[in-house]
Amino acid sequence: MDTFDNNVEKPSSNHHRRPRYSGTHPKSFQQKYKEHNIGAHPELRTHLRAKGKTPAGSHIPVLIEEVIGCLKPKAGQTIADCTVGYGGHSLEFIKRIGPTGKLIAFDVDGAELERTRQRLSKEKVSISFYHSNFAGIANAMSKEKLEGYDIIFADLGVSSMQIDNPARGISYKNEGPLDMRMDERLKQTGADLLNSLSEEELAKTLWELSDEPDYKEIAHLIVIQRAVQPITQVSQLVRLVFAVKGLTINSWKKQQRSSKFGSLHPAARTFQALRILVNDELSCLKELLRIAPYCLRPGGRIGIISFHSGEDRLVKQSFRDGVENGIYQSASQNAIVPRTKEIMSNPRCASAKFRWAIKGV
Ligand code: SAH
Repeated sequence: MDTFDNNVEKPSSNHHRRPRYSGTHPKSFQQKYKEHNIGAHPELRTHLRAKGKTPAGSHIPVLIEEVIGCLKPKAGQTIADCTVGYGGHSLEFIKRIGPTGKLIAFDVDGAELERTRQRLSKEKVSISFYHSNFAGIANAMSKEKLEGYDIIFADLGVSSMQIDNPARGISYKNEGPLDMRMDERLKQTGADLLNSLSEEELAKTLWELSDEPDYKEIAHLIVIQRAVQPITQVSQLVRLVFAVKGLTINSWKKQQRSSKFGSLHPAARTFQALRILVNDELSCLKELLRIAPYCLRPGGRIGIISFHSGEDRLVKQSFRDGVENGIYQSASQNAIVPRTKEIMSNPRCASAKFRWAIKGV
């Protein structure tokens, strides 16, 4: 049994029975105890993956072949995985850098970082974990007495574990508190911001961070509704967005059934914008892009996977400027995107865009 699954089922002297669920299959995130311990249930993993699903409490790494092919990790190298998450990319790096290599792993999510630390503890390579924003790669470099990293890698945004956990309030799909913080040390939750920002600030957030077309109307209704009752739950925000768009849950489902490919959930952009704001994601990315060239060894490589146009624009511009200024010797011409086969097996990777750059020697 994987030791990190201690939040789900832990045999101990005062062993508690698992909560029973009605019906034949577990539905909620917490009830999926087998999925949380997927290492012990390989047949369930195969079954879920064949259906394009991610087992609860885990994460399927995206664009693995492309990342490895472009960043070319080699024996003995030092790699900064800025967003270690479930450790999917890290495991692939570890295989290639071998016992003489070093992995420096960062994540702002303390709970998931601890699980990943335990999951990777069997690996025969030196790994240092930092419960830190990736803006801390420079500090870590001096702590680890490094001249620079051979590879800096970041897979931006949220993990499947974070999306699926209703207690996080990141997804419009699961009822829960509108928390949205990846780092529990942050002071303000999504609910705090929804109930305190001005209408103008809310509208600006919705437009700039997710291109929500109904940004003005949604911001206006948030301000009206919160005067009656604070908006603290996922379902309140989903209902509000549906109201603005003149939809009901039933009319939306009907629309979904008749559309060939399915369309973006009406509340997806609103949730994305709020999450990016809560976690100050764009400022963190700008800082990473600013300091990365100074943290790379000559000839070192940087690779970044982003999931929306706001992030991708920043990465593209920074790598392009770096080549023009001579900081980078080369950079990817176009964003590398997942192949259809990968999207079919992991629909969550559909919007991924990968770019890389190589520091001058
Ligand atoms: N590549 C990983 C998945 C990464 S998911 C894997 O294959 O398993 C993205 C992770 O980045 C999440 O765990 C999230 O908590 C973390 N994250 C997001 N912004 C961050 C930041 N600014 N600094 C450090 N970690 C961050």
